[in-house]
Amino acid sequence: MKKTIRDIELNGKKVLIRVDFNVPMSDGVITDDNRIVQALPTIQYAIEHNAKVILFSHLGRVKSEEDKEKNSLRPIAQRLSKLLNQEVKFIPQTRGEELEKAIKNLKEKEVLMFENTRFEDLDGKKESKNDPELGAYWASLGDVFVNDAFGTAHRNHASNVGIASHMNDVVAGFLIEKEIKFIGGAVDNPERPFYAILGGAKVSDKISVIENLLNKADKIFICGAMAYTFYKALGYNVGTSKCEDDFVDFAKGLLDKAKGKLILPVDNVVAKEFAEDAESKVVNADEIPNDMMGMDIGPKTIELFRKELQDAKTVVWNGPAGVFEFDKFATGTNEICKMLSELDNAVTIIGGGDSAAAAKKLGFEDKFTHISTGGGASLEYLEGKTLPGIECLNDK
Ligand code: ADP
Ligand code: MG
Repeated sequence: MKKTIRDIELNGKKVLIRVDFNVPMSDGVITDDNRIVQALPTIQYAIEHNAKVILFSHLGRVKSEEDKEKNSLRPIAQRLSKLLNQEVKFIPQTRGEELEKAIKNLKEKEVLMFENTRFEDLDGKKESKNDPELGAYWASLGDVFVNDAFGTAHRNHASNVGIASHMNDVVAGFLIEKEIKFIGGAVDNPERPFYAILGGAKVSDKISVIENLLNKADKIFICGAMAYTFYKALGYNVGTSKCEDDFVDFAKGLLDKAKGKLILPVDNVVAKEFAEDAESKVVNADEIPNDMMGMDIGPKTIELFRKELQDAKTVVWNGPAGVFEFDKFATGTNEICKMLSELDNAVTIIGGGDSAAAAKKLGFEDKFTHISTGGGASLEYLEGKTLPGIECLNDK
């Protein structure tokens, strides 16, 4: 068990909080503030407990001076200020006199945010390579450290692991606590039956997830383009479907090892071309025509999944069932959202950037027990890896 913000004294302390404010932006405008909203409980708790709150995050990648302008955290500080309904003092630097002075003058319950931690990457990748001087410097700015940036927890960076190694009190915020509870809980100690639904683009992206979950889950439902590599392993024709020839042998091995635990789609919606308005039809698994590609799971598969999922107590879903970006091929993904939202007494978890985006796009945001805020981080968690940003926290 990791210590959390509840376990330490905050009163009057300079509390460094690493948040994940790496939100999607378009022309300087925030298009989805979910990650900011998800960080509010930790920030509000710190304010209520009379902390002097110092926030920092990365945003995008910073490789040139122009990237700096695009990736300033200023608009995010403004949005946060609205959400908190209080001033957020923004310091447009990652180190230096102005920052140090502002922190020195910070009063209890006040909130300060400094500039994008990756600005330090311009000069020798100091943030991303966990430069020891940088971690020590940031650590020197505060009294205690709270990591609440789950989306970066799979990285070994100066702003999480680096700082942690220079401070005594290093604890989880509420968001990281929640991610550990749900994703960690599902993988390590699930209520059974525990099922996983794995879809998305590539087997190669999800190899380690399938391997890890094969040992833990009671059944694994395969969908998305991933299914066609398994079809090929079974000797089915896959037409022009997305398929990874280099991984057919691996898929064969998994099917042998799985002994019936892996459930593949029994039918598919196939199309002549990869397009929104492509002509399409439904065919059985082993009947994909030479000149057509699988774009979504078919109605029989939806019914099969629904039936097999009925007694679920825990479900983890990673990867859309089809090309959900095109409405015509979003039915499978939509129906999976629906069937999971209708399960009584089951913990339902989405871990995966595109699957989470799909659930939101289709209007199911509030219907899951937990939608992870981490793409890469939740994937690595599902692979059974230890995440350095969690590993570095104090144990209880
Ligand atoms: P996640 O981010 O949830 O882990 P992935 O990144 O693995 O998911 O995969 C998401 C992508 O997979 C989506 O862009 C979706 O269009 C694509 N995809 C799903 N099914 C198919 C298919 N049958 N053919 C091609 N692409 C597909
Ligand atoms: Mg993705």
